[in-house]
Amino acid sequence: MQNERYPFKLPPLPYAHDALEPYIDAETMHYHHDKHFKAYIDNLNKALEPYPEAHGLTLAGLLSPGRLEQPGSPPEEARRGILDNAGGVYNHDLFFKCLSPRPDAPGDQLTALINSQYGSFEAFKKAFSELAASVFGSGWACLAIDGGGRLSAVKLANQDTVVPAGMSPVMLFDVWEHAYYLKYKNLRADYIDAIWNVASFPMLRART
Ligand code: MN
Repeated sequence: MQNERYPFKLPPLPYAHDALEPYIDAETMHYHHDKHFKAYIDNLNKALEPYPEAHGLTLAGLLSPGRLEQPGSPPEEARRGILDNAGGVYNHDLFFKCLSPRPDAPGDQLTALINSQYGSFEAFKKAFSELAASVFGSGWACLAIDGGGRLSAVKLANQDTVVPAGMSPVMLFDVWEHAYYLKYKNLRADYIDAIWNVASFPMLRART
């Protein structure tokens, strides 16, 4: 939905809420998609509603460096709320697409990149899991690709995105407690281990 514009609408979950059991439970999916993701969408629409000058910007456009600072943009006191909620929408939209009961393996292009930069998929998986486990507080672990075709695994705080760095997300793990606490409680590492069973790699296929 990165090319969509105000008013933003909650995209349906592309599988049943219980489809990722036992790795991610149905109750967590109900809260995560139907409540948390929806709240970011509703709050983004609310934050943008008074500023018709920003209604023409796409979701990715709202997050692009400097776009909200141009003349005729929403005032500074409104920008933080717009950016935080736009980031929440952007990250969650991709997150739910990167989970599947029938996960896509990385395509040829991504496999080649992972092998050349990490040595093997197993080595990448270990490095990405450690990165996700080390996010302090609420945030994300994101595998992203830059304009030169180089992968980076980065930690994102809160609802930051890789857009300001000029990168495109390829896959990401939500490590906010709301993503795992109902089932895994304080055991974030167990959630990270489990999520690999339903982690899908639908991105980069059109570019091969
Ligand atoms: Mn979340």
